[in-house]
Amino acid sequence: MTLNRRSVTVLGATGSIGNSTLDLINRHPDTFDVDTVTAHRDIVGLAAAARQSNARYAVIADETKYLALKGLLGGTGIQVAAGADAIIERAGAGTDWTMAAIVGLAGLEPIMAALRAGGTVALANKEALVAAGTIMMDAVVDHGATLLPVDSEHNAVFQCFEPDPARIRRIVLTASGGPFRTWSYEQMRYATVTQAVKHPNWPMGHKISVDSATMMNKGLELIEARHLFGVAPGMLDIVVHPESIIHSMVDFIDGSTLAQMGCPDMRVPIAYTLAWPERMATPCDRLDLAQLGQLTFEKPDEDRFPALRIAKSALYQGGATPVIMNAANEVAVAAFLQQHIGFADIMKVVEMVLETYMAPDPADLDDVHAIDEEARAFTTFHLKAAVAA
Ligand code: NAD
Ligand code: MG
Repeated sequence: MTLNRRSVTVLGATGSIGNSTLDLINRHPDTFDVDTVTAHRDIVGLAAAARQSNARYAVIADETKYLALKGLLGGTGIQVAAGADAIIERAGAGTDWTMAAIVGLAGLEPIMAALRAGGTVALANKEALVAAGTIMMDAVVDHGATLLPVDSEHNAVFQCFEPDPARIRRIVLTASGGPFRTWSYEQMRYATVTQAVKHPNWPMGHKISVDSATMMNKGLELIEARHLFGVAPGMLDIVVHPESIIHSMVDFIDGSTLAQMGCPDMRVPIAYTLAWPERMATPCDRLDLAQLGQLTFEKPDEDRFPALRIAKSALYQGGATPVIMNAANEVAVAAFLQQHIGFADIMKVVEMVLETYMAPDPADLDDVHAIDEEARAFTTFHLKAAVAA
């Protein structure tokens, strides 16, 4: 491999994306210098990640775990810090490349810090872009930073994209349809947590797995695509493709469609962002189309998956609506994972919040945080009533 040596930071190092990222990085110790790895509460996972990657810093968000983490890393020379501010500080330290793989809006400030430092950010954390898309994209320009999409669909579009919007007719995001693709709405009402987090093609963190089951994940991805590629909402489309081999497509005005394909393994899009603008070898499975036999496609069903309709409306409305939708969804998914509400209740809650909670458009990051916090409080307070309605 002929890549230049670069310093890297992995935010959310103990998660599914964080693990896949470190798996690639650790295979190339001569190319990647790990500056910082971070996690929420999992000190054992973080200490292992820091040791394996020979990181300079390990930062845990939960301050109560500082001493325990320090104990686990004693004698290694790895510096230890704790707290959300410590993560933001390390994220802004100016490493060449940062993986943004914290889940939820908690990842927003570290991303902004890395962008302000003018580095390259590989973005997995779609919730941050959904809530603060315009502000984040402005920061990329203002600070000469680079934002590369990790989400498999957006990474696929990025690989097929041409920046001249006049050449593009449509962007088509593929959706696996999730574990309940063939279930009736009635069946989904009784879906359990275990069933919801068992994705047919991709092993992922619990939050995004539930989002895939409700298909809110695809809704968030529409908004993510709008910001990343600067296209009008009407140019974005979804097709269900259960095999997850075509990761997305770009339709050009002349009738050509470019699609990016590969086995469903997040290390492929992550490697693309790690090596960009080069490419690097990975140990991932190769595509064998003859073995697969066929690829199938379906229209998305907005009746069984109301999240698609809800997110589309937020995509067109913009302003505070995506912030509120994301906040309500994060709260409702957490409530489902704790078995406080049922699976179909997740979208009932999100829809109720969007119908009743209003906020002016956010002008800056403080506004985004204020709307997010109020919308979370509102959702939590009205959770039971929304479910009972
Ligand atoms: P995960 O739950 O497996 O990992 C989340 C990581 O974030 C963990 O390291 C955790 O410690 C950290 N974290 C959680 N809350 C935090 C907080 N409050 N402060 C600091 N750190 C915190 O999730 P994942 O599946 O790896 O997904 C991460 C992000 O990537 C999500 O935004 C998800 O939508 C996106 N994404 C994931 C996949 C996938 O295949 N897993 C694909 C596309 C996009
Ligand atoms: Mg995706």
